Amino acid sequence: MERKRNHGFTLTELMIVVVVIGVLVAVAVPVTHAARKKAENNACVQNQHIIHTEAVRYFADHGVHPDDTQELVDHDYLQTMPLCMGKKYGQIVDGFVTCPDGLHTEPIQ
Ligand SMILES: [Zn+2]
Repeated sequence: MERKRNHGFTLTELMIVVVVIGVLVAVAVPVTHAARKKAENNACVQNQHIIHTEAVRYFADHGVHPDDTQELVDHDYLQTMPLCMGKKYGQIVDGFVTCPDGLHTEPIQ
């Protein structure tokens, strides 16, 4: 009696593969989302530090704080307008600027 050879996968094997892929995606998506949020936050906080540093330089040169970030760009203290998630930083108050959405205040380790 000749045994029939099976060259394909069974439905159970395919279902196991699909479930394993689903579990991996379910783990990977939140991790990458969290990493992206952390990177956005740290970039925004770093932008705030840079704007502050340049506002202090501006103050040393002009004797007054700049009104907004655009003034730093216009006077070549910043090469380009820094953005937080596509939004411009607004008014500079006593050399400090805040996140346009108010979301980012402290760096995330
Ligand atoms: Zn921000």
